[in-house]
Amino acid sequence: MKFAIPQKAYKKNCEALLKAGSVEGMAELLIESLARVSFRVFRIHVSGDFFSVDYAGAWQTTCNAFPTAMFWAYTRCRDPGILGVLRQTSNLRMLLSCDRDNWRGMLAISEDFPCFGLSYYTMGEKPPEQVYTRGDEVPVACPQGLVVFPDQTVRRRLSLPGTCPTDLAVNPWPKQQACVKCRRCCG
Ligand code: SF4
Repeated sequence: MKFAIPQKAYKKNCEALLKAGSVEGMAELLIESLARVSFRVFRIHVSGDFFSVDYAGAWQTTCNAFPTAMFWAYTRCRDPGILGVLRQTSNLRMLLSCDRDNWRGMLAISEDFPCFGLSYYTMGEKPPEQVYTRGDEVPVACPQGLVVFPDQTVRRRLSLPGTCPTDLAVNPWPKQQACVKCRRCCG
């Protein structure tokens, strides 16, 4: 079903998940939806976050149902129960989403979940050195462990180390291919 504005779709999806209730019910909805499309890498959530242990479990079941695909997601969640479920999902790469308000708390979470990547959403300020340092310690093969996403008001005018290539003034790839070619977030 097509929606005029994305928020209507987000609301409808959220209501369907809450109605499904259980890990199994939510996973069934997710798997049914994904089975309709062809993908090699899949980003979970354009908006929203992992809101319960059961919901994280539903995504774990869903990722397991597509073992040859790679999933990734950004999260501001600090619940160790939720993050613990996500950590156990081998084809899911998680990035802890930091900004100038929450970065200290997310760095503390990163200590307990060292395999998770880091991203930083900037309004124009340079991310703290501690965040860059922690990003470089994340065990992934990429030039900058930290991925920087500029706010739309500074997008394409700001070039900080680690900036997502699609947010630079000269985007090297067509938007539909960028993440598959870059792979910094999706591993
Ligand atoms: S282009 Fe690279 S850095 Fe940007 S969102 Fe995609 S994978 Fe992440």
